[in-house]
Amino acid sequence: MSVLAYIETWEGKFKKTSFETAAYASHLAEALGTDAVAVVINASDDPAQLGQYGIKKVYRANDAGDFNNYVWANTIVASAKEAGAKGVVVSGTFGGKMIGGLAAVKFDASLITNISEKPTSVDPLVVRRSAFSSKGFVDYQVKAERFILSIIPNGIGVPAPNDASAEVVDFAVVADNAPTVQVKDVDRVKGKIPLPEAEMVVSAGRGLKDPSNWNLIEDLAEALGASTACSKPVSDMGWRPHSEHVGQTGIAINPNLYIAIGISGAIQHLAGVSASNKIVVINTDPEAPFFKAADYGIVGDAFDVVPKLTEAIKAHKANQ
Ligand SMILES: Cc1cc2nc3c(=O)[nH]c(=O)nc-3n(C[C@H](O)[C@H](O)[C@H](O)COP(=O)(O)OP(=O)(O)OC[C@H]3O[C@@H](n4cnc5c(N)ncnc54)[C@H](O)[C@@H]3O)c2cc1C
Repeated sequence: MSVLAYIETWEGKFKKTSFETAAYASHLAEALGTDAVAVVINASDDPAQLGQYGIKKVYRANDAGDFNNYVWANTIVASAKEAGAKGVVVSGTFGGKMIGGLAAVKFDASLITNISEKPTSVDPLVVRRSAFSSKGFVDYQVKAERFILSIIPNGIGVPAPNDASAEVVDFAVVADNAPTVQVKDVDRVKGKIPLPEAEMVVSAGRGLKDPSNWNLIEDLAEALGASTACSKPVSDMGWRPHSEHVGQTGIAINPNLYIAIGISGAIQHLAGVSASNKIVVINTDPEAPFFKAADYGIVGDAFDVVPKLTEAIKAHKANQ
């Protein structure tokens, strides 16, 4: 028996969520008294480094071509069977979501998504998933013989690496005769950390009044090394790209630090950001609903507060 982690790559490189998935699988395998193994597809990074997060053996399937969820699911399930895995752990990224359900059918497994914590019990296996737009939790028990667990990106975190190294074996990609989905084009925002993976996010809303004022937000984000986000009306009006829209109908994020500037804190916005570790709100209106969800609040005008905050952060960093 073992637990298999599906290790996602982007342009051949491991992502932060890949290490999180490896660490979660290792934790679960240890609790079950077995080993954690992994499968990587199209990796140029050295899979042996996954040993640093507790993985003992890696199945390396290269030359799989462009992403195709059927081929990926086939290959993951075949490697899980080869490893005698009881279950598979994937990250709930875009790719992970496309693979999870398909792999669960092929693996005849229970699928539980949106997992936000380590298992509360392993016999029987009970996992906690985030629900109701992160306003609540539900404990699920695995009833099938096998399981596929999909964990929230950036939710559980990556532990400090050790100095172990994993065994790497080559594994054949399992083709699919009838792929139904094909990636035609990828248009990616360059040079920025994707919002679901960002440690810090500086976000702004209609309180900024005009898109020409976004230099305030970008300056603060740059000083912190944070990604930028926005409320829905801001992207609807074309002030910012839709890729920055967070909330119930946008991207759901859970950074360590979320700074909300000139955003009222409507329930639909909070649905996508309330899982953030620390929330800082800057708003002129002391009655703005966002203050109820905030760890720190500044009642003040963004045009006064944000430049001062940016300068203070720059000065602090310069003195470090
Ligand atoms: C089905 C549905 C889905 C939705 N999904 C989403 C979603 O995913 N994400 C989302 O964001 N919204 C979503 N919305 C919209 C949501 O209900 C709110 O309308 C929206 O979040 C408000 O955006 P805002 O806070 O930027 O603007 P406003 O509500 O206009 O708030 C602006 C805030 O800025 C403050 N302010 C003004 N001037 C300043 C200043 N100088 N300095 C500091 N603060 C200032 C004001 O006090 C106010 O609190 C959805 C709505 C519906 C109906």
